[in-house]
Amino acid sequence: MKPTTMNSMIKFLDLKKINAGYKEEFMAAFERVVDSGWFILGEEVLNFEKQFAAYCGTKHCIGVANGLDALILILEAYKELGVMKAGDEVLVPSNTYIASIIAISKAGLVPVLSEPHAGTWLLDPAALESKITDRTRAIMPVHLYGQLCDMDPINKIAEKYNLKVIEDSAQSHGAVYSNGKKSGNLGNASGFSFYPGKNLGALGDAGAITTNDDGLAETLKALRNYGSHVKYHNLFKSVNSRLDEVQAALLSIKLKYLAQETEQRRSAADFYLQHISNSKIILPVVRAREAHVWHLFSVRVKDRAAFQQYLKENNVETNIHYPVPPHRQPAYKELAHLDFPISEAIHNEIISLPISPIMTPEELQYVADVVNKY
Ligand SMILES: *Cc1c(COP(=O)(O)O)cnc(C)c1O
Repeated sequence: MKPTTMNSMIKFLDLKKINAGYKEEFMAAFERVVDSGWFILGEEVLNFEKQFAAYCGTKHCIGVANGLDALILILEAYKELGVMKAGDEVLVPSNTYIASIIAISKAGLVPVLSEPHAGTWLLDPAALESKITDRTRAIMPVHLYGQLCDMDPINKIAEKYNLKVIEDSAQSHGAVYSNGKKSGNLGNASGFSFYPGKNLGALGDAGAITTNDDGLAETLKALRNYGSHVKYHNLFKSVNSRLDEVQAALLSIKLKYLAQETEQRRSAADFYLQHISNSKIILPVVRAREAHVWHLFSVRVKDRAAFQQYLKENNVETNIHYPVPPHRQPAYKELAHLDFPISEAIHNEIISLPISPIMTPEELQYVADVVNKY
């Protein structure tokens, strides 16, 4: 039996609808920036940095151009501070979005891939220790899909081997760990992305770094701006990776609603978890409600291509995060000889259902019904 039909496709993510509610505030902020005549590293960036640091509970926030640069610049800062040098190794989950791994390569360091836990699909602390060598300098836990990695054991290993912990928080804005601390405040430094589709999304590219380390923050403020604290005085050979005033002004607006939007995502996920009951579908494991902000609602299914086609025919748009494991990408031929069976299985079976703060109860019910009738 076919489920009751929806007339139009349930979009995977409707960014137009998500942002429509904020349009009036956006226009006022845009006008304020235009009228100020100041477009780079001004009041808007300073205000957003202050607010986002307060939100994360960290001492510092440094706005940058995007999430990839946030991670690269953290590593570059550690190099400038003498903590790491070219060729040093950074542990990273083998099933992450490729940006985490590219950041390590672009900083002149070596990514060492480590398998996720087969149940949570997150970096497995138990698999980490065997990957540590005398060149290992850092661990990069990625809070994939919006769920926090198990940070206590990861931080314990880091302490034992004197490693830095660099969170990739691109998907986990606002997730709270068991100690009450938020994503971005669970290691030595953290990279955030505000790509439009992320839980805190700008209207273009944007990113930030959070840290409690004064020296690191000071270095990062120069590294995002040609290695310069004072105009035309350059301490480092660095890039231009600044957050701009317009995006900062828009992000300050969206930040006010992030807690509410996160709760809407959690309610949507609760609904799926309670109502999807198809033995062919493996649901995500949730360690703690607060520790997950549901950037994605990904499930596993053996015959993914057929499942995705069936959902499409029934007006449910899906996406795959991610179809190709990093060590099978042409960009990483040097890793092609390695085997990561847990990652490979995840990449073969994972598929993401629509989730967002603006999905209606009818849409959620419809998606659950369609999935259950597969
Ligand atoms: C989106 C994302 C990034 C990169 O962020 P950009 O702003 O697109 O550069 C890094 N890591 C993860 C896990 C991401 O999802």
